[in-house]
Amino acid sequence: MSDEAATVLGIDIGGTKMAAAIVSADGEILTKDLIRTPRGGADQVFAALAELVGRVQGDLHPAAVGIGSAGPLDQQHGLVSPVNIAGWRNFPLVDRVRTLVGDVPVTLGVDGHCFALGEYWTGAGRNVDTLLGIVVSTGVGAGIVVDGKPLLGQSGNAAHLGHVVVDLDGEPCACGSYGCVETYASGPRMVARAKRRGWRAHEDVDAAVLSADAAAGDEIALAMFDDGAQALAAGIVATAVTVDLTTVVIGGGVAKAGPVLFDPVQRWVKRLAQLPFVTDLTVEPAQLDNAGLLGAARLGWDSLQASTGVRVAGVAEVNALS
Ligand SMILES: [Zn+2]
Repeated sequence: MSDEAATVLGIDIGGTKMAAAIVSADGEILTKDLIRTPRGGADQVFAALAELVGRVQGDLHPAAVGIGSAGPLDQQHGLVSPVNIAGWRNFPLVDRVRTLVGDVPVTLGVDGHCFALGEYWTGAGRNVDTLLGIVVSTGVGAGIVVDGKPLLGQSGNAAHLGHVVVDLDGEPCACGSYGCVETYASGPRMVARAKRRGWRAHEDVDAAVLSADAAAGDEIALAMFDDGAQALAAGIVATAVTVDLTTVVIGGGVAKAGPVLFDPVQRWVKRLAQLPFVTDLTVEPAQLDNAGLLGAARLGWDSLQASTGVRVAGVAEVNALS
């Protein structure tokens, strides 16, 4: 295998869209395409993915594949059951992707982990070794990179920051617990809470409208972003003092609200992060549009290095750390 010519295929599986890209060893996307995630049975959804992968691969033969998928997933057995892809329940995604790419390493990871890994590789975290990445959208996903490697945990599901309890008297959460970060900070939950207080109570509106109203000074909308920011900050600081990190990157649809979200998050983080090793905690917006896709490709590069022992320029620092 020639290092110069080697490429990896990254795949990003979400409930709304599926994306695939051929990525070089220094994190450059060579070709990329995406499709809307189809509704339908297991094989129908996979056929659409197979067609996408075929188109992106063309005549190339990637040396490894990395897949980031919405959870939950069973990393050990390569199975995925994305909440928003009803046709896939314990779907053997890794084995099925193997039928498309031949005998190369195929690695599966949680989408939030891939987001953090992508921002660590070429985005807002490229100058640090350890960071927390958070995706705030219809849910709150996250990933933690420690010393250049994604923190997986016992079952591969580490960093479920959206389900850190921040309010002991809080509302029920979809996970079965209550008072989770997600009950305050996800887009749909912020909208639902705002409506209960009379904001656009009878309109069909989403978090983008809420953020526009907050930016225009609407008091209820601003209060919802402040509540969401406080919950996020509590989750961030809990993670920072547990893992010992000072770099946080936030992306996702709700993060597109910009200062409406980031200003109160930074204010609350400053208030809550008091131990000396976290007082420098910084929270910044994601820099990449494709962090999840790049992070998936990075999983592929890391597994390639681990299985072949071949050092690849651009990702070699991971070997230096291991
Ligand atoms: Zn929860």
